Amino acid sequence: MLRVHWWLSSLTSVLMLAHLAPIAQASPIKTSTPDVKTLGFDASAPPNSLNVAVDSQGAEDDSSVDSLSQSPRSSMATIEAIDITIEGNRILIRADRPLDQRSYWDRNTLAYQIEIRGARLSQNFQPPNAQDSQAISWVRAEQADPETVMVRIMPAPQVSVGEINQPSPSLLSLELNGYQATMPLPPPDLGSGMANVPDPGTIPEGQVVIVLDPGHGGSDPGAVGIGGLSETDIVNPMSHRIRDLLEEEGVRVILTREDNRTVDLQPRVELANRLDANLFVSIHANAISMSRPDVNGVETYYFQSGQQLARTIHGHLLEATGGPDRGVRTARFYVLRHTRMPAVLLELGFVTGNQDARRLADPQYRERLSQAIARGILQYVRQHCPGPGC
Ligand SMILES: [Zn+2]
Repeated sequence: MLRVHWWLSSLTSVLMLAHLAPIAQASPIKTSTPDVKTLGFDASAPPNSLNVAVDSQGAEDDSSVDSLSQSPRSSMATIEAIDITIEGNRILIRADRPLDQRSYWDRNTLAYQIEIRGARLSQNFQPPNAQDSQAISWVRAEQADPETVMVRIMPAPQVSVGEINQPSPSLLSLELNGYQATMPLPPPDLGSGMANVPDPGTIPEGQVVIVLDPGHGGSDPGAVGIGGLSETDIVNPMSHRIRDLLEEEGVRVILTREDNRTVDLQPRVELANRLDANLFVSIHANAISMSRPDVNGVETYYFQSGQQLARTIHGHLLEATGGPDRGVRTARFYVLRHTRMPAVLLELGFVTGNQDARRLADPQYRERLSQAIARGILQYVRQHCPGPGC
């Protein structure tokens, strides 16, 4: 049963949605919508209700949208893909041209709506499958009119919609907050990323082989945080450094991407399984809403056989960073579930955290992290390889 009450005033409309689960984390939403300057949740609302305040001041300022809607079809952007990222807390909308969006809660569907004018959906567009995601109930995209694409997102209960970032003009990134991944995530649609895994050549019998996965790259910058610091900027150089440190110790390391190219999740897993690698280590930086700079710290994820490897690396990371310690956790991430060897996913800190972003931008700090990760992997290799855990 859902009852909707409206209070309208000259400046502020308040929408109360009764009988909805309360939002776990209150988070202001920045929006470029001309007639909606701010959207905010009221976390102090009584249980089973949710207040959404819409400040409609300045509704007459609509010039940017008008100029786009009058542009000829030939300059329209084509939306090529909408993906749910590996961490399950972000939706990426990619196009071939700069995108201009306005976003708001839709009063009819009660979904979060991103309205993209001057855009059309690609001929072979496939919406992302949110079936296995705990953060998202569903994502739909439709051509609302010949020049407008509507993307509607229904966050799962306890999950709030955060900010839309634009890491590049043709890429929109929407954060979902208050969600901890515990459910499987589907691989993204397989496209050009399939052919991009490197050819490792031949590997001598008996050599310890580690597949190291820089979590993001190519068209996917990963999380983007304070000062525009992106996950790719952190994990790509670090992965190369960790490889060098490990190879100096006689361990063979294969990267899932040699340069900043797009590689989908499935080929990364297939590479590790085909090589019968001993260990798989995926390297990431974390993100939450830009309005939560207080959230900082290291997390290490594993699924089943990766627990001891996760604990060993995590211990070295804490020693190098001094924390905060956000723990060793299980998660059903695709790259952890489908690899047939001990596998871990490292979240080295929050690009949205005031402490972590400053540290992660510092090459000397990243060197300390790289050395800590290499030490952790080497300790595990020396204790477990060859053996049942390696
Ligand atoms: Zn990542």
